[in-house]
Amino acid sequence: MGSKFQAPRGTRDILPGESERWEGLEARTRDILSRYGYREVRTPLFEATDLFVRSVGEATDIVQKELYTFEDRKGRSLTLRPEGTAPLVRAYLEHSLGHGDPVTRLSYIGPMFRYERPQAGRFRQFWQIGAELLGPGAPPADAEMIDLFVSILEGIGLSGITVLLNSLGDATCRPAYRERIREHFASREGELCGDCKERLRTNPLRILDCKVPSCQPAIASAPSVLDSLCDPCREHFQGVQAALDALGIRYEIAPRLVRGLDYYTRTVFEVHAASLGAQNAVGGGGRYDQLVQEFGGPATPAIGFSIGMERRLRAAGDSEAGPGRGPDVCVVALLPGAVVEALTLARTLRGIGGDAAQSAADTARGGLRVLVDLAGRSASAQMKWASKVGARFAVFVPAEADGYSVRDMEAGKDEPRQRTAESLRAWLLARARREPLPQGAVP
Ligand SMILES: [Zn+2]
Ligand SMILES: [Zn+2]
Repeated sequence: MGSKFQAPRGTRDILPGESERWEGLEARTRDILSRYGYREVRTPLFEATDLFVRSVGEATDIVQKELYTFEDRKGRSLTLRPEGTAPLVRAYLEHSLGHGDPVTRLSYIGPMFRYERPQAGRFRQFWQIGAELLGPGAPPADAEMIDLFVSILEGIGLSGITVLLNSLGDATCRPAYRERIREHFASREGELCGDCKERLRTNPLRILDCKVPSCQPAIASAPSVLDSLCDPCREHFQGVQAALDALGIRYEIAPRLVRGLDYYTRTVFEVHAASLGAQNAVGGGGRYDQLVQEFGGPATPAIGFSIGMERRLRAAGDSEAGPGRGPDVCVVALLPGAVVEALTLARTLRGIGGDAAQSAADTARGGLRVLVDLAGRSASAQMKWASKVGARFAVFVPAEADGYSVRDMEAGKDEPRQRTAESLRAWLLARARREPLPQGAVP
């Protein structure tokens, strides 16, 4: 079927078949997050532009090249969120989510927007799952965060996980490192790409992030941040490593790892999966001990991470693929005039409405999925259709004098009639879920 329209460049539709994989992934991730005590915040898809410029950083690629920024009708500058941490910290302060508790655990899941060059596994609208731990500043918090991060990835059976770990220092020691980096790259400016020449003036640490091949020799010989850490930062970093050792989490020190955001302090980390290419970090995060204060809040250390859903799905490969489940029941109208009666019976069989407690109980067991033919097929064509869509049972309207006829499509045999719609519902649900049949259901 042709259309005059297509999804915008760099975006995609998540279609039936794939959307079930997303739901499964989200459900599993939410379960893991809740086991670690995280609660979800849903922030708007757009925020004041300043929120991102001041947190992500004016001289970052994200802010300089990748924001979707627009003016609303009153001339306010708004930006589609390119990441989840700044909106979440904004909400944390706006609603006093800390409530004086020294530790707050918050999570988010949803689409982010960046104007990037579309390529394999990269989209301009992409989904992220993230978690933020606000309050504690000592190494065990970093370790728990990385533990959660690894748990979420292991939860989908991702193997070959390596945590890349680095420290970026803090306001005490980073300025000196920044100066050493600037001097190093200034002495090799001729080797740098155009963007990196610009970064040399605005944000020399960002050069370490550059993926342009000609910049790699200068990056490889750059001084390590770990030689510039002040004593408290060095102790913190050693504390994180000791805690990860105790937890049995495998990591590698990666002194060139800087991540693409300016707000990080001390610990930063990424996780690569063996099944993906070198450039495909499944996700990463870091500590941001100054951000809450920069937004006008009290001094609040914090650490967080995000995981790209698209890349995580790719990393999970086909292990999560699977056809959608067929319906449990097709209600077959034996006469052309019986379609509305079929709709009525289908409504009862789904168990929604009516008795609220019954409906909730059905939902917990997985309520019956019931379809009625709306294409005007004959009775025999409806049977073929029920078989084609994978229905487990067919039931027929109008009912006989002694109740509803039922056919087990899987076994290919007729079942005993059920006297009422309610007893039919209970019987079908038990059979569809392979539970013991309800008492007295079979006449
Ligand atoms: Zn470069
Ligand atoms: Zn330091």
